[in-house]
Formats: sequence, structure tokens, C-alpha cells
Amino acid sequence: MLSEFELIKRFFAPLSPQQPDVRVGIGDDAAVLKMPSRHELVVSTDTLVEGVHFPQDAEPQKIAYKALASNLSDLAAMGATPRWFTLALTLPKAQENWLKRFSEGLKACAKSFQIGLVGGDTTKGPLLSTSITVIGIVPVGDAITRSGAESGDLVVVTGTLGDAGYALKLLNTFSAATPNYFLDRYWRPSPRIGVGMALRKIATSMIDISDGFSADLNHILEASHVGATVNVEQLPLSDELVKSLPQQEAIELALSAGDDYELCFTVPPTHLAALETIFSKLNCRYTQVGKIEVTPGLKARHFDGNIHPLVTKGFKHFK
Ligand code: ADP
Ligand code: MG
Repeated sequence: MLSEFELIKRFFAPLSPQQPDVRVGIGDDAAVLKMPSRHELVVSTDTLVEGVHFPQDAEPQKIAYKALASNLSDLAAMGATPRWFTLALTLPKAQENWLKRFSEGLKACAKSFQIGLVGGDTTKGPLLSTSITVIGIVPVGDAITRSGAESGDLVVVTGTLGDAGYALKLLNTFSAATPNYFLDRYWRPSPRIGVGMALRKIATSMIDISDGFSADLNHILEASHVGATVNVEQLPLSDELVKSLPQQEAIELALSAGDDYELCFTVPPTHLAALETIFSKLNCRYTQVGKIEVTPGLKARHFDGNIHPLVTKGFKHFK
């Protein structure tokens, strides 16, 4: 069994980046990081616990990738540029092979999104858990919050919804033959970093879809003191999801399943042309799904044209 110090040296210190903005990385009591002038820090922490956020006995590369990618999604939702992260890892036991694969998954994600590991903590505990703090930067005043949506703004989402939720459903029912498309959507979320950054000064509010579209849009509505009507038939569904499920079930997942890590944002209609340019450059799908209105509350327009209040059923830890 490896000691705490050996395992940090072997599996995490090599990930310490050679970035000019890291003056002191892994190995000292704390990291020393250089801030560019006229920028603000954007900081977010997320914890994943075995059995709660991912199935027990999941592959370590996948746990690590998802842990970092889902954290990065919060930076994307603020319009921030990722710079540094720390990792607090709790393990029941220190197994070399497990740690090697975990650090590989972490490295792959860190490299893809150009974020450097600058420190952390390693402890023994009864359950596997990862707690990652990501730090990004944004020009002063440019961070996109949940609170700027205004009546008349369009509600837009990136990518497709419900895929990760369907994967989780299959994983929970022990279906051995879950198609790769869905597994990837669950285990390798694509934090929309480029989109988030491009929407600075354009989006009036933004959130990432981690708990479920309707629950997350509701956070924007509450923070902005507005309401919205969403067109159910405009929800973006992947071809794979449409092929796999009856329409009603696919829509249900798109509305309420978590783990998609797409972005939901609001923009004044005058910015539609700017959106077209941004998204074609970034090769990302985007869909207008509704409109912000003065009256608070979230409503859905169904296929028959009828409008009903939408009951939000996002994931909650403490009901
Ligand atoms: P201290 O006792 O001063 O808190 P530690 O022994 O916990 O220091 O950690 C030693 C160094 O290794 C520190 O720089 C810390 O940030 C880093 N570190 C510890 N665990 C991890 C980890 N899981 N990932 C990355 N860096 C880590
Ligand atoms: Mg410590």
C-alpha cells in the first residue's frame, strides 16, 4: 500500500502544470498563482460521492473525467476561462492501479480544457469521494450570472437534452448493452467553455444544466424575478434518444433529467444574428426553446398548443 506522500508524488505531482501563471504548484503548503490584471476570479467547488453521483465500482478514469468536466461546466456557465484546479480525494484504500487510471482520466480532461492541477488533499475515508475546486478568470464585470434575464429575452439551450439522463436510467437498471453514445454523454460531458466565453456581453443570464432543464431554468427565473414559457416541441433531442424512446418519455427526460451539462441562457432577440455567428464558429448546436416574460413562474406549451404550469422535478439531495 502506498503512503499518502508517495501517491501524491507518483500520481498527482506529475500533473502540476508548466504554466507561467503558476509560480508555486503541487508540493508546497499552498499554491501561488498569478492573476492577470483587470480580471476577476471565478471559483466553484463540486463533490462527487460514490453511490450518489456515480455507481459504485465505476471505472476510475471515468470518475475523474466526469468529476473535472462537471466542475468545468460551472465555469462555462459564468463565461469564465478555466485556469487552475485543486482536488480533494477521499479513498477507502490506496490502490496503485486504481490511482494510475484515475490520474489518467483527470489528465485527459485537464489537457482538453487547459486547466492546471495546482494542489489538493488526500485522505482515507469509508467512501470514495472527489471534491474539486476550479478557478477561472473573467475580465472585470463580464461574468454572466443567473440574475439578468429580462422580459422578451429568448431562452436558448446548447446541444441536446436528456441523453445523460437516459444513460443513467440504463446504468441503474443494470443494462449491460447501454449504447456508447449514451455512456459517453454521461461519463464524458462536454463543458461548453468556448460557448460560455463567447457569450460574454451577449447573454443576459446563464446556468449550466446539471440538475435538469426545468429545475435549472427555474433558478434563472427566480434569480431574475421573471417567468418563462417553454415550447415542449422545441426541446432539442438527439436522434439517438428519439430512436430509443417513445416521444413522451424522451421529452420527460429532456425536461427533468440531470447530468447533461449543457448551457441554458437568455438573450435579447436583437442578438440572434450574433448567436448564429458564434455557434457556427464553435460548431455547436443551439436551440431557442422559449421566451422570458414578466409574470413569474415556468410554463410549458404542449404539442396541442395548451399552456400549463411546469412542475420542476430536478434532483435534490435533501428533499
Ligand atoms: P499539507 O499537510 O501541508 O496540507 P499535504 O501533505 O496535504 O500538505 O499535501 C502536500 C502537497 O501535495 C500540497 O502541495 C498539496 O496541495 C498536494 N496534494 C495533496 N493531495 C493532492 C491531490 N489529491 N491532488 C493534487 N495535489 C495534492
Ligand atoms: Mg493537507
